[in-house]
Amino acid sequence: MTPLRLAVVGLGKIARDQHLPSIAAMPAITLVAAADPNATLDGVPHFASLDDLLRNGPPIDAVALCTPPQMRGAQAAAALAAGKHVLLEKPPGATVSAIAPLTEVARVSGKTLFASWHARFAPAVEPARAFLAQREIRSVHVIWKEDVRVWHPGQAWIWQPGGFGVFDPGINALSIVTRILPRPFFLTRAELAFPSNCAAPIAADLDFTDAAGLAIRAEFDFRQTGAQSWDIAVETDQGRLTLSAGGAKLTHDGQVLVDEKKVAYPAIYRRFVELIARSESDVDLAPLVHVADAFMLGRRIVVDAFEE
Ligand code: NAP
Repeated sequence: MTPLRLAVVGLGKIARDQHLPSIAAMPAITLVAAADPNATLDGVPHFASLDDLLRNGPPIDAVALCTPPQMRGAQAAAALAAGKHVLLEKPPGATVSAIAPLTEVARVSGKTLFASWHARFAPAVEPARAFLAQREIRSVHVIWKEDVRVWHPGQAWIWQPGGFGVFDPGINALSIVTRILPRPFFLTRAELAFPSNCAAPIAADLDFTDAAGLAIRAEFDFRQTGAQSWDIAVETDQGRLTLSAGGAKLTHDGQVLVDEKKVAYPAIYRRFVELIARSESDVDLAPLVHVADAFMLGRRIVVDAFEE
């Protein structure tokens, strides 16, 4: 099979930490170009923007959009219009409504649009889903607390409109919970804490329920120093299931079922290649809808200004 000719757009933290090593390890993909206003890659043709790449670059089949979410919708539209398959980093866009026009263009043109949710590819997520499919679920408690200064140093976009603030990591938790629970759920209460100098929240406290009245609570905080928390506890009729370390570890009543360090991104690229081979798209907006609901329903409080 001829390798997929891919361009990476946005050479920031996630592109360098995860996308580039995963692509390099995949014979089915060749990196042929990169677009970023400033950053470059040794030996890879560089373009200052996606438009420049599409106009003047080498032939490509697909793009991976690793840019901040505020510009991703317009970039996806441009790439699809140019006949390219598109992999979207999470969240898929800065608004919910930006996505439907993209899925429609992909459907009509037979191109693949893949809204990737990397946390869903963590090794314990599918085992947790299978476990919960067989149990009565009594409550869910999500604690997703990390240090923004460690994970997002100098990223001004995250505090701007459309930058998601603490929902940038929080949406990863929501992408897991929407995958492992057997029924859809909806938001009933939210409190969002905005630093006085930011347009995006630094913390969020959320309550959800479902048609059966299940209590689902989520606490997101970007101010956590020391040990970081990426944990989901589910009480069931047959004990407590705990998905921790961002989906890497699964325990049932303290007994370890899964504990793997495997990284998610190679699986994301295998899925992208598979979708392209089948001329399919994969776009699940459920996590993004919950975040939009939180912005609509959430009571807003103002907290101390954020300083880097
Ligand atoms: P980042 O480090 O700020 O990287 C974004 C890159 O895109 C920067 O190099 C930026 O350049 C570049 N860029 C800005 N405007 C551009 C444009 N018009 N065309 C091409 N490139 C452009 O951010 P990140 O942490 O990698 O996050 C990017 C996305 O990945 C976010 O949606 C985030 O949620 C997701 N993600 C991040 C992580 C993580 O651990 N950081 C994990 C999973 C997913 P300048 O800096 O020069 O503006």
